[in-house]
Amino acid sequence: MDYKDYYKILGVARGASTDDIKKAFRKLARKYHPDVNPGDRKAEERFKEINEAYEVLSDPDKRRKYDTLGPNWQEQFGPNFSGAGRRSYQYGTRGGSFDFDPMGPGFSDFFEALFGRGSTTSGRTNMRRRAGDNIEQPVEVTVQEAFSGGVRTFNVQSPEVCPTCQGVGEVNGKICPTCNGQGAVPRSKRLQVKIPPGVDNGSKIRVAGEGQPGIGGGPRGDLFLVISVKPDSVFERKGDDLYIDIDVELVKAMLGGEVTVPTPDGRKLILTIPPETQNSRLFRLAGKGMPRLRNEGHGNLFARVRVVLPMHLSADERALFEKLARSRGVEVHP
Ligand SMILES: [Zn+2]
Repeated sequence: MDYKDYYKILGVARGASTDDIKKAFRKLARKYHPDVNPGDRKAEERFKEINEAYEVLSDPDKRRKYDTLGPNWQEQFGPNFSGAGRRSYQYGTRGGSFDFDPMGPGFSDFFEALFGRGSTTSGRTNMRRRAGDNIEQPVEVTVQEAFSGGVRTFNVQSPEVCPTCQGVGEVNGKICPTCNGQGAVPRSKRLQVKIPPGVDNGSKIRVAGEGQPGIGGGPRGDLFLVISVKPDSVFERKGDDLYIDIDVELVKAMLGGEVTVPTPDGRKLILTIPPETQNSRLFRLAGKGMPRLRNEGHGNLFARVRVVLPMHLSADERALFEKLARSRGVEVHP
């Protein structure tokens, strides 16, 4: 088992700041990244070393432990670590292809002797291979879309690895003209996304693999569409329930009859109201509200009666109302 000089591997001084270590790591990781050096075993080994060095030096606890190693470092490991490598210093053995196993070890025996197996700082997804960050993008939908669901097309902006320099930032020793040395270029992608019925304000729709690009060959993060539902002039939403005002002619409210109640998907329901229905009375149309996003069924649709008084009365109609007034003992102006 060989002692590993992590500072030397990253080309930084022993007293280097976390920032300097990070910079050195990123530069080297880009240079030796397997995507840039396909089939190059030496680059692969180097890349692995760089990652291991960064894993240790970027973590204050690990770095402190590593720094305390003296000339007799081998003795500090104890008898269980005689230096016979249980397995060679290798990683990404799946089918011989260069592919990290985010669960797998892949650290040198030296590393494991010092820190134990599976002791990477970030657990399952360590620095060598990490998924990209998630992106959130707000999306406004109508009540109709929220009710019926649908498909929406979005333009998503997220960077991708520069196709010219493969993320190195340089081509033949010069700054890459495509990405200006950034290693990444903006990407615009049109995406079709299904809006599930029942979405509400704050609902998040996950689009897997459309977030920021991963690090060290890791997968892209996810895109989350954050829903907001536009206020509607007809339907008022409270959770899974919908409220709608229904205009009802005075005579129908008094005598009873059928009224039509629209739903957000354009259907018309028939509601029978009893005689002497009062203004503002609520009628519940069970199960005709919003689809429940996570459960079966629908909320309710509440129809609120708004009695509409007749206008432009004919002389005959006026006479009828006067007759009604006398019958009810109501004094009116002639
Ligand atoms: Zn480039």
